[in-house]
Amino acid sequence: MEILVINAGSSSLKYQLINVETGGVLAKGLAERIGMDGSNINHSWTKDGNECQKSITVELPDHTVAFNVISNLLVDGETGVIPKREDIKAIGHRVVHGGEHYTQTQIVTSEVKKAIEELIPLAPLHNPANLTGINAAEKAFPNAIQVVVFDTAFHHTIPEKAFRYAIPEQFYREDRIRAYGFHGTSHKYVYEQASKYLNKNDLKAITIHLGNGASMCAINEKGQSVETSMGFGPLAGLIMGTRSGDIDPSIIFHMAEEMNMSLEDIKNILNKQSGMLGIAGSNDARDVSKLYHDGDKHAILCYEMYTHRIKKYIGAYTAILNGVDTIIFTAGIGENDALTRQLSCRDLLALGIILDEAANTSKNHPKQPVEIQAENSRVKILVVPTNEELEIALQTWEVVK
Ligand code: ADP
Repeated sequence: MEILVINAGSSSLKYQLINVETGGVLAKGLAERIGMDGSNINHSWTKDGNECQKSITVELPDHTVAFNVISNLLVDGETGVIPKREDIKAIGHRVVHGGEHYTQTQIVTSEVKKAIEELIPLAPLHNPANLTGINAAEKAFPNAIQVVVFDTAFHHTIPEKAFRYAIPEQFYREDRIRAYGFHGTSHKYVYEQASKYLNKNDLKAITIHLGNGASMCAINEKGQSVETSMGFGPLAGLIMGTRSGDIDPSIIFHMAEEMNMSLEDIKNILNKQSGMLGIAGSNDARDVSKLYHDGDKHAILCYEMYTHRIKKYIGAYTAILNGVDTIIFTAGIGENDALTRQLSCRDLLALGIILDEAANTSKNHPKQPVEIQAENSRVKILVVPTNEELEIALQTWEVVK
């Protein structure tokens, strides 16, 4: 069975057509600049084992048109991989915020859509776009079952002592201010891959997702998230590509009151101009690591800060879990940047975490889970490629089969 997985942005649609029996990707692509001039689709597909690609410039006034063009590409004589669009029986949508009550994958109903809408104040950038994607998919694929997979859902097991902020209770009860956490699909996927790989079903793990956005998660022996580094929004926790991660909130008051900056400016600085970009001048870890090796002092500081923060959370989560069996690196930087893993695991002997530096370098960019700890390390160190689209497809399959 083929499942179409959708990640809708306000002007973009990312898609993958996945065969859930084999886990194989039949076709994937990205529609960009929807509703703007110069809209286009980059479509790639596999035919007879060969990777093929096509870029088309096409007018995409809205997401429904984009879906129609994409579905034509999926069935077209040249670019297609399935005979007809009705073969797509289910569509899995990534939705960023499911709030407190949506803790599971859901088949889309008017009630679910209403809930996604009601959660817009908590995810003002993402939930409206995700909802647009769902509405457009319903129009373009009226016979398919629409399913939503929430980024927050995996974290619903975090206990109240960990998800509450120490501010007056009314802000939680009335305004829903608490930690939700994100990247749940990825944390869950790599944890399950690691459990399978290690053949251990009571694994205590710390998962470290380092992409443009970055977060860590403490997962107990029952496979439940019990702590995560992002909070009410995605700005908390680790240093990211352009986000600051944890800062003292008094900095915000200082910027507003003493420096006369507007809230909009402060938001922009902390979300778009901070993190690696703010410290080292680039939000691409490939650039920063090159500069690091060239001896650039900003890049060196950036790596020191970036990995210091990761270490701080490794220590905290080891305590929360009362010991850990494995730490798992994943996503763009976690999978491909040996330097980040090396510095994050440096001087953690006291916690029983010892990296094998040769294995760390030689097993970079893995396609499958790999182990990179030294022989005498009590804790296993794994690099596990994440695959959020496959996880969404599998969860969609679970609810429709
Ligand atoms: P997202 O899905 O959050 O957009 P990714 O998981 O694709 O992000 O990760 C993007 C990050 O991965 C970028 O900072 C990029 O520099 C980094 N990255 C990708 N490949 C490499 C590599 N070979 N070495 C170092 N960093 C890499």
